[in-house]
Amino acid sequence: MIVAERKCVPELLDIIKDLQNLLVLGCGTCVTVCLAGGEREVGIIASALRMTTKLNDLKINVEELTIERQCDNVFIEQAAEAIERNDAVLSLGCGAGVQAIAERYPEKPVYAGLNTTFIGILEERGVWTEKCAACGNCVLHNFGGICPVTRCAKHLLNGPCGGSKEDRCEVHPDRECAWQLIYQRLKNIGQLDRLKKITPPKNWKSSLAGGYRTIIREDHRI
Ligand code: SF4
Ligand code: SF4
Repeated sequence: MIVAERKCVPELLDIIKDLQNLLVLGCGTCVTVCLAGGEREVGIIASALRMTTKLNDLKINVEELTIERQCDNVFIEQAAEAIERNDAVLSLGCGAGVQAIAERYPEKPVYAGLNTTFIGILEERGVWTEKCAACGNCVLHNFGGICPVTRCAKHLLNGPCGGSKEDRCEVHPDRECAWQLIYQRLKNIGQLDRLKKITPPKNWKSSLAGGYRTIIREDHRI
C-alpha cells in the first residue's frame, strides 16, 4: 500500500491561513490503513485546525468528509457538493489523490495535508517499512522476493557490497543486510544457483527517472 504521514499542524495552518471555508477530505483506502488520512485522522486534523485557528484569531470554517477513494473520479463525485461549497480542499489522500481532485476541479485550490512517503507494508503495530520503489521492471523473481533496489542501501543488484558486519548493513547497522536476506531466502527455497549469474545493469527507463509513467491497457479501453 501507499504509506503517508500527516503534515504538522503549524505547516497546515500556514497553508490554510487565508481561507474562510475549508474542506478536510479523507480517503478510505491506503491512507486509512496507514493511519494518516482516513475518517479518524480527518476528525483529528479538523479539530486541531479549529482550535489552532481560534487561538490565532482566524475565522475558518472547517468541514470534514471522507470518501472511499480520492484517486478515482467515481468516488470523487461523492465529494462534489462539499468541494463546491468550500474555498479550498485540504486533501488527506496520497499525492495521487490530491492531484486527481485538483485535475477534476481546476478552479479550486487543493492542498496536500500528507507527505506521501513510500510503497510498503505494516511490519508491526505502528511500524511501516518501504518494500518497493515502483521501478517499473520488477526483478523480485531473481532475488527470492526481496527487493535489492529498495532494501539494499546501495541498491546493488550484484551484492553484497562487502561492508556488512555479520548480518548487518554497513550503512544502517540497525538493519539486516538485504543481501544477507536474499542469500538466506534463496537458500531456503533451493535457488542459490541464481546468485551464480551476474545481473546486468538494470534498465532504468521504466523508472521515474524518465519522467512520469503511464500504463495503457488497450484491452480495457473503450
Ligand atoms: S524490483 Fe522494482 S518493482 Fe520490483 S519490488 Fe523492487 S522496486 Fe518494486
Ligand atoms: S551492507 Fe548489504 S544492504 Fe547494506 S549496502 Fe551493503 S549490500 Fe546493501
